Amino acid sequence: MEQLMRDFFLFLSKNKTLTKLAKRYGLRFGASRFVAGETIEQAAEVIKQLNKKGLAVTIDYLGEFVDNESEANEMADNSIEAIRAIGRERLNSQLSLKMTSMGLDISDELVMRNMRRILEAAKENGVFVTIDMEDYSRCQKTIDIFKQLKKEYDNVGTVLQAYLYRTEDDIEDLKDYHPNLRLVKGAYKESSEVAFPDKKDVDENFKKIIKMHLLNGNYTAVATHDDAIIEYTKQLVKEYNIPNDQFEFQMLYGIRPERQEQLAREGYTMRVYVPYGTDWYGYFMRRLAERPANVAFVLKGMFRK
Ligand SMILES: Cc1cc2nc3c(=O)[nH]c(=O)nc-3n(C[C@H](O)[C@H](O)[C@H](O)COP(=O)(O)OP(=O)(O)OC[C@H]3O[C@@H](n4cnc5c(N)ncnc54)[C@H](O)[C@@H]3O)c2cc1C
Repeated sequence: MEQLMRDFFLFLSKNKTLTKLAKRYGLRFGASRFVAGETIEQAAEVIKQLNKKGLAVTIDYLGEFVDNESEANEMADNSIEAIRAIGRERLNSQLSLKMTSMGLDISDELVMRNMRRILEAAKENGVFVTIDMEDYSRCQKTIDIFKQLKKEYDNVGTVLQAYLYRTEDDIEDLKDYHPNLRLVKGAYKESSEVAFPDKKDVDENFKKIIKMHLLNGNYTAVATHDDAIIEYTKQLVKEYNIPNDQFEFQMLYGIRPERQEQLAREGYTMRVYVPYGTDWYGYFMRRLAERPANVAFVLKGMFRK
C-alpha cells in the first residue's frame, strides 16, 4: 500500500497540467507547511525566524520542468536574487539548486554559464551553494559539472545518494576534491539495476558512506529525519574525535521541527532546507510520497476552514 501511494505521488509530481493548476491556485492544501512562501521576501521572513531559533538554512528557489533557455536564465536570476537577499539581510543561509533548472537538459554550456553567474554572486555575498542531486540519469552529468566548478570555486558542494550502488565509488573518486557533500538516502524512483531496492540496504550504505566521507577528512552534511542515522553519526564522531565543525545535520522545512531545534540545542549545526517559489507542486508531492502521515496532515488542511 505504501509503495502504491509513493508511486502515485511521484507520478503526480511529474504531471505538467497539475503543476499549472497548482501554480494558479497558490499555496493551499497544507503545502505552506513545507514551502516558505512564493517570494524571496516571504522566504526571508521564515529564515529569520529559523535563525532566531539557532537553525542554519539552505534556501531553494523551486522550479522543475525547465525546457528552454530563457526559463533556465530566469531560474538563475531568481537564485541570484536569493543570494543577494541573504547578503543584504545577513541571513544565516546557504543556497541549494538543481541542475535541470539551470538548463541541464538543454545544453552543458548553458548550465555552466548560469552556474558561474550564480557562484560569482555567491562569492561576493559569502554564500555557499549546494548542487542537489536529481534522478540517476542526471547523476554523472551533475558530478562532472560539480568537479569542473569545484576547480574554479571554493563555495560549491553537491549531494550523493545512499540508495545508488555507485555512491561508494563516487565518494572515493571525489575524495581529493575535498568536497563539502550532503549525504541523503535518495528521493527518486530508481530501478534495482542502479539502486538498492531494500530500505535496509539503503540504510546500511548510508552509514557506510557517512563513515567513509568523514574519515576521509571531508565536510559531511548528514541530511535525514531518521533517528537511527542521526544516532549513528553522533556515535561515530565521538569514537573518531571528529570535531563539530566537520559535519552538520540537515532536515527539510516543516519536517520534525522540534527535533531540529533539539539538535541545535545539543550544539550541532542543524541546517533546514527551505524551499520557496511559485513552482512548489512537484516538491510538495515528493514529500507526500515519502510519508503517508504527511498526507493525513494535508487532508486535514484541505478540510479545515
Ligand atoms: C536537507 C535535505 C536535502 C535533501 N536533498 C536531496 C537531494 O539533493 N537529492 C535527493 O535525491 N534527495 C534529497 N533529499 C531527500 C532524501 O533523499 C530522502 O528522500 C528524505 O530525506 C527521506 O529520507 P530520510 O533519511 O529522512 O529517512 P526516511 O527513511 O524517510 O525516514 C526514516 C525515519 O525518520 C523518521 N521520520 C521521517 N519523516 C518524519 C516525519 N515527517 N515526522 C516524524 N518522523 C519522521 C521516521 O522515524 C522514519 O521511519 C534531501 C533531504 C534532506 C533532509
